[in-house]
Amino acid sequence: MAEPVVGVLALQGDVREHVRALTGSGARARGVRRPEELEEVDGLVIPGGESTTMSKLADEFGLLEPIRKRIAGGMPAYGSCAGMIMLATEVLDGRPDQRGFDGIEMTVRRNAFGRQVDSFEAPVEIDGLPGPRFHAVFIRAPWVERVGDEVQVLGRVTDGPAADRIVAVRQGNLLATSFHPELTGDLRVHRYFVDLVRNAG
Ligand code: GLN
Repeated sequence: MAEPVVGVLALQGDVREHVRALTGSGARARGVRRPEELEEVDGLVIPGGESTTMSKLADEFGLLEPIRKRIAGGMPAYGSCAGMIMLATEVLDGRPDQRGFDGIEMTVRRNAFGRQVDSFEAPVEIDGLPGPRFHAVFIRAPWVERVGDEVQVLGRVTDGPAADRIVAVRQGNLLATSFHPELTGDLRVHRYFVDLVRNAG
């Protein structure tokens, strides 16, 4: 699979930025809004945005169960920020009716970094990425409070009041970050995911 087809869940959020980053990372990228479109992709990106809205739209567009099934069947998926929340098995500070894809065995807390620091940037050391620390952009971001045995912690905040908080994880073919690499022009996380899709295919 020289150029894997990677879908971006295109219901809400920063879809275009992910499409651009994936295209620059050696994938054929396309938006996924209907179950038929999901069947055509080798992997799926769940963008940043608003997880409560995304949950509602995924249900309305008939995508919630099909995505859960494909993820359970081993399809690679990567979620950034709201996408991380959508991939988690447990969400704290969510809306009671919010639903996700039950992919990564972890507990995430929404809007965890606090209201005073809605958005911030910090360098993060990420296992498996070549080169310098990743310049991570956080926007009303979640953090990971608990991970299951199968989950590999790839990155933590290195300093400041949120030091040591887990912000990048992987479980098998599933990858999630609290931050938004699609907004920075640094393609290392997307390349890592496209490699993962290629190797899974
Ligand atoms: N706070 C948002 C949520 O709960 C996530 C923010 C983001 O994706 N930038 O879904």
